[in-house]
Amino acid sequence: MVRLSKSRIMSALQCPKKAWLEVHRNELAEHSSQTLAAFQAGDQVGAIAVELYREARGKGQYIEYEIGLAAAERTSRELMNGLFREPVFEATLSHDGVLVREDVLLPDGDSWRIVEVKASTSLKDQYAQDCAIQAWVHRGAGYGYSRISLAHVDNQFVYQGDGRYAGLLVEQDLTGTVDELLSSVPAWVDKARNAVSGDEPVYPVGQHCTSPYPCPFFRHCWPVDSDYPLHGLGGSKKKLGALVARGYQDILDVPASELDSDPHLRILRVTRSGAAEILPGAGEFMRNLEYPRFYFDFETFGRPVPVWPGTRPYQALPFQWSCHVEHEDGLLEHLEFLELDGGSPMRACAEAMIEGLGDHGPVIVYTTYEKHVIKNLQELYPDLEARLQLLLERIVDIAPPIKAAYYHPQMLGSWSLKAILPTIAPDLDYTRLEGVHEGTEASNAYLEAIDEKTTPQRREQIRQQLLEYCRYDTLAMVRLVHFFERH
Ligand code: SF4
Repeated sequence: MVRLSKSRIMSALQCPKKAWLEVHRNELAEHSSQTLAAFQAGDQVGAIAVELYREARGKGQYIEYEIGLAAAERTSRELMNGLFREPVFEATLSHDGVLVREDVLLPDGDSWRIVEVKASTSLKDQYAQDCAIQAWVHRGAGYGYSRISLAHVDNQFVYQGDGRYAGLLVEQDLTGTVDELLSSVPAWVDKARNAVSGDEPVYPVGQHCTSPYPCPFFRHCWPVDSDYPLHGLGGSKKKLGALVARGYQDILDVPASELDSDPHLRILRVTRSGAAEILPGAGEFMRNLEYPRFYFDFETFGRPVPVWPGTRPYQALPFQWSCHVEHEDGLLEHLEFLELDGGSPMRACAEAMIEGLGDHGPVIVYTTYEKHVIKNLQELYPDLEARLQLLLERIVDIAPPIKAAYYHPQMLGSWSLKAILPTIAPDLDYTRLEGVHEGTEASNAYLEAIDEKTTPQRREQIRQQLLEYCRYDTLAMVRLVHFFERH
């Protein structure tokens, strides 16, 4: 009998082919930096959950994965069958060839209370299935449960800086929902077992490739070996999956009659033309920008477990900014801020920004993200609120006029800065940068740099990489504005 884990069954529920690939061709998996960051967040929240439930109960036993699954299961049963029962973390149980590790088990009378811990900030539909598989194995292994809950991060929790995290997690009782789902679990197990046995299943691409979890086998399944792969139409994966199922691989193959949304028709029209479409609106918008122009960009990080007083889980906190200042006579200055000393960087970041951006001239950004970060700074530092408000009022987002006026076939359905830039300034190539090429990598690099185990040499290397990356982002905006001013 094929042995299954809970996550394998969850994969099979998302897509049988995904479960098969995880078992037989896992080397094809390509996890994005966002997915890797989500794994890390899961580890951090799991660790704090153990601390919190231990604190609440005064004790508890953690079953290490490293001792091997057989030993983990044996130890779990010994603890659960013992006379003096205490909380068990990562209790390992199996039933009918399905193995689960239960995040938190709390003795409750002669039964157990099961708590599944997630790093997300809300209850998601798939979590009930996840808990039901766990409850099914728990019961099948011969144990009862009085309640099964899901503990997730409360994004309104404010850390006081005192090392105490009580309140970081909120529990949602899923017992009723899980009880209703229990009878479905054997069919899910069969589905997963069938999926991983035999040859690679034939399964169409579609919405399930990104939902509920982004699938790491995207490149294996979607057509990517063409000049304008179909996913470059953008939009719903459901619609794109239907087009792939009808045999289309390349945007150029798709007849207009198959498309019904304006963005799709626009992308098809421009891709067929083979040249960029530039409408006049963006040029007029850019020419109206006054001087001095401040091209501005933050780098931020957000952790599920906040470390600095006054901050919330996943709050976007800036540790770096870059600003190119363009004067009317053409002079281009560069200002920047980056703090890697391991202390809270936000206050110094805000003060340097207020000083560097002066009191007049548009603060040019790409998307509304910088506004959101400045609002976070206002919340953190009420004494800076008024001056930050003046900056907010000067912000000009150049993304909407560009999106309305510009598309190039090479952008493949994306209007991100990194998608547009190669089409207007190929010399500014992000792939030439070392170490840090996008926001999540910048955030990870920052966290590595402030880790006390990081050597001074490595920290200095990261500093240079972060400075170079952020400078690129604001220089890219300068080039973008100049490009559209000419059109
Ligand atoms: S990319 Fe889509 S079809 Fe392929 S394995 Fe993943 S979810 Fe399944």
